[in-house]
Amino acid sequence: MSDYNHILAAVDFSAAAEAIGARALDLSQRYACRVTLVHAVDYLLPLGYADDFTPSPVMMIDENELLEQSRRSLQTFAEKMGLEEARQQVLAGAPRQEIIRYAREHDVDLIVIGSHGRHGLDRLLGSTARSILNDAPCDVLAVRIREE
Ligand code: AMP
Repeated sequence: MSDYNHILAAVDFSAAAEAIGARALDLSQRYACRVTLVHAVDYLLPLGYADDFTPSPVMMIDENELLEQSRRSLQTFAEKMGLEEARQQVLAGAPRQEIIRYAREHDVDLIVIGSHGRHGLDRLLGSTARSILNDAPCDVLAVRIREE
């Protein structure tokens, strides 16, 4: 079995998030490796939305506020989970794409996700989870989240 050096924990602040944080902490201690907590904010308008499209200042302030709020939430989450040492990264864009991109660019060798997040428990795996499992450049651990 290979050692892990860099674990990415994908945090969406749903009920699943604590189970993911706890698993990432446990694994980082077992492998003496680093952890990055990642949250993706996917409410932003895509760049190049239209050639003549100029975002209004109000829209830009809201986006910045959203990103800032997520940074604060990630900080609170890290403290609550005992993951203060972990790097915290807020990404702008679709979670499934941004998480894969980040993993590729930062030599992540294990991604920890929840089997489900905010999008319901109707299937064995949520859509973000499925997409990450399909496209990841490394191992993926899907922490099983059960309905209470
Ligand atoms: P889903 O497939 O959307 O139900 O979510 C499954 C898992 O994907 C969640 O438990 C998280 O680990 C991860 N995930 C979903 N959305 C996000 C997000 N916005 N930022 C970071 N991770 C996410």
